[in-house]
Amino acid sequence: MNVNEKKADRIIHLPPYLFAEIDRKKIEIQQKGMDIIDLGVGDPDLPTPSHIVQKMQEAVTHSEYHTYPTYAGMPALRKAIAEWYKNRFNVTLNPESEILVLIGSKEGIAHTPLAFINPGDVGLYTSPGYPVYPTGIRFAGGTPHPVALLERNGFLPDLDAIPEPVKHKAKLFFLNYPNNPTGAVAEGDFYERLVTMAEEYEILICHDAPYTEMSYDGYRPLSFLESPGAKEVGIEFHSLSKTYRMTGWRLGFAVGNPDMIQALSKIKSNIDSGVFKAVQIAGIEALTGDQTCVEEMRNTYQRRRDLMTKALTKMGFTVTPPKATFYLWVKVPQGFTSSAFATKVLEEAGIVITPGNGFGKEGEGFVRMALTVDEQRLKEAIERLKKLTF
Ligand SMILES: *Cc1c(COP(=O)(O)O)cnc(C)c1O
Repeated sequence: MNVNEKKADRIIHLPPYLFAEIDRKKIEIQQKGMDIIDLGVGDPDLPTPSHIVQKMQEAVTHSEYHTYPTYAGMPALRKAIAEWYKNRFNVTLNPESEILVLIGSKEGIAHTPLAFINPGDVGLYTSPGYPVYPTGIRFAGGTPHPVALLERNGFLPDLDAIPEPVKHKAKLFFLNYPNNPTGAVAEGDFYERLVTMAEEYEILICHDAPYTEMSYDGYRPLSFLESPGAKEVGIEFHSLSKTYRMTGWRLGFAVGNPDMIQALSKIKSNIDSGVFKAVQIAGIEALTGDQTCVEEMRNTYQRRRDLMTKALTKMGFTVTPPKATFYLWVKVPQGFTSSAFATKVLEEAGIVITPGNGFGKEGEGFVRMALTVDEQRLKEAIERLKKLTF
């Protein structure tokens, strides 16, 4: 039997996941014996803080945590999430109806369109952006419509520039601030305009906010839910992945509009069976335990950001130090496409960076560098970049 002939259209038309493709190239170069510095995937290089690991070690021995979890997440974790949102953003959430635990926020993002998109419906998403937004919309049979993030608008979407017929047809809108890959942040006035548009055109807002704690120079990013009326029109995705360096643990959550939470929960209860309870216990420890690990994380990335942006600027690159996230969004030198530049840097300097167009064609002209190696390796990367000629 030819299995390939049996494949569904949705997989045939799907480009390979961005980082799977870059990984393949990286291995190819590695096999030639080159020492690789990986600034590609946004995966923290530092381990999960030890008090969280210890909690997990203890929790895993409890047999009551070995059984199927409840679909919405353990009540104690949902309560911890509600308290964390109250303390951090002064946003009040009902743990019963306004919080849903996810197997990492990627899972919830990918499944959300299944709850709202019918074949033919339009789903908006900001581009360049996380590839899961358009793919999730497409998997549900919808038509993804990119909203460009342009440098001249501070990488915020120009809501007035979205064509009227598109706004009327759109059912939901995926956005993400602090933003991956541009490092941009959104302020209260933007969220207020977003809520106004959502009310006027009846568009469900899906705000992806895993980087609110990864910020610098004392800057504190906002939650979308802080804006008046936000909970009437949308939900926010959050994650323990970046804040507590727990990417491999798979623990995230969606909070906000109870009807949207309920709809997503209905989809999920037919697909998965929740997060391992021992991981949820570790998540409670992360959210309610000692927070000095978060401050240390900020200091570490701030030092790396300063080191790298200074060096790149000196070399003649155009890069703005981000207020949040661990990404540098760097303009490629004249005469290069994003891909050509990323390939040159990988082949000649052994440094993995991500071409901006991998996040959508609106990212063309930029590359993303993730600050996920220590300062010594960053210095090595700087030395290698200095030797390249553009
Ligand atoms: C890292 C990241 C996520 C995914 O986080 P998980 O909770 O680990 O699935 C979601 N959105 C964006 C924009 C990210 O960069």
